[in-house]
Amino acid sequence: MTVKYPEPRTAIFPGSFDPFTLGHLDILKRGLQVFDRVVVAVGVNAAKKGGTPVEERLAQIRGAIAGLSGAEAVSYEGLTVDAAAACGATSILRGVRSVADFEYERNLADLNRAISGIDTVILCADPGLAAISSSALRELKAYGRDISAYLP
Ligand code: ADP
Repeated sequence: MTVKYPEPRTAIFPGSFDPFTLGHLDILKRGLQVFDRVVVAVGVNAAKKGGTPVEERLAQIRGAIAGLSGAEAVSYEGLTVDAAAACGATSILRGVRSVADFEYERNLADLNRAISGIDTVILCADPGLAAISSSALRELKAYGRDISAYLP
């Protein structure tokens, strides 16, 4: 059963998404069962070098989410809470893969609530997809392995 809130609700789904995986897509789809609109927001951190250029990541994400009503993708620099306000989001959406992710996500959620009052909705990834992290795929890709099976 899909539960919708009475008011249209927007969440921001922030991350580096490098590359955008089936796990991310799974969290996005689950998020759309709770929110009317989910904005995938690719964080651009000038201090972090390397990785796929943001325009390439955005094109890849937009291709993967093209059929999902209510889903969109943007990039942002700066604080996630400011990007949330800019896109009209009243919640932050995050996914967790394992128990080990929870403490970090809890701290992040507390921090964002403290600085802007915004709440975070944390969803559990499908166990079959949860083992695949963007950084693991980035490493495989760097060593020339075929990662297409993990990408939407
Ligand atoms: P970050 O570095 O901010 O965690 P990512 O792009 O790795 O950026 O992840 C963005 C969001 O997607 C985070 O909430 C993260 O927990 C979640 N996520 C990452 N990998 C997976 C996966 N394999 N399955 C489900 N969720 C994932």
